[in-house]
Amino acid sequence: MKAPILAYHKVDTRSPTRFWVSADFFDMQMATLRELGYESVSLYDLWRSSHCDGILPAKPVCITFDDGYENFATRAFPVLGKHGFTATVFIPTDFMGDDQRRWNDWDRSPEERSFPAAHLVWREVIELHRSGIEIGAHTRTHRDLESLSKTSPADAEDEITACKREIEARLSAEIGFLSYPYRTSGPTVENLARKAGFLGAATMNGGFFDTQHDDWYRIDRIPVLSRGPGISPQEERDAFMALLGELPRNTQP
Ligand SMILES: [Zn+2]
Repeated sequence: MKAPILAYHKVDTRSPTRFWVSADFFDMQMATLRELGYESVSLYDLWRSSHCDGILPAKPVCITFDDGYENFATRAFPVLGKHGFTATVFIPTDFMGDDQRRWNDWDRSPEERSFPAAHLVWREVIELHRSGIEIGAHTRTHRDLESLSKTSPADAEDEITACKREIEARLSAEIGFLSYPYRTSGPTVENLARKAGFLGAATMNGGFFDTQHDDWYRIDRIPVLSRGPGISPQEERDAFMALLGELPRNTQP
């Protein structure tokens, strides 16, 4: 089965870069998914369906979020609940604080700094997990694993294994999936993910993922990016439907 796996980063009131989807558009996108008959599933549901004959809805969609921002809890999670959807959140463990909220060191552009996004704290991650959100690993410190595996293989391995171990200890649950920071992987990194015990690992090249025939350590996702100011709700909806392959070719925006 070919399933769309959507990849978001930030959902908030403003959209200073294309990685921020406005909360209004996110609500519209979730309403569109529901109108089109999609039902959201976790990556584990997809994995189980292809490895253990698990049952899937007729139109499954995975809704994933990279980086574990606070705005997932405040903006995206309530909208998901309103539409009856679940999601997967990939977290870089060194940026998840206990009492103190943390900011990362990779959102460096002036636009990102104009509206800084903090990360979730562990208490929130645990609450989200209890509410049915699938938590995934996004390494410890969000480094480019492909280049790190060439210069310092031990560090690349630690980024993957220590992240998995910490989330599992905090949640008392097994963590099945990893998302590669900056979508970079390669055979060495994919082998590290396999060796660490992940069931699969996600990249983001914009295609649908074929659960039977594609490599589970190169799970393709479709990035959902904002289209900048001045886009009408109808144009935004058409663009989203085109991502899902739901528009006839002659009306693709
Ligand atoms: Zn990331």
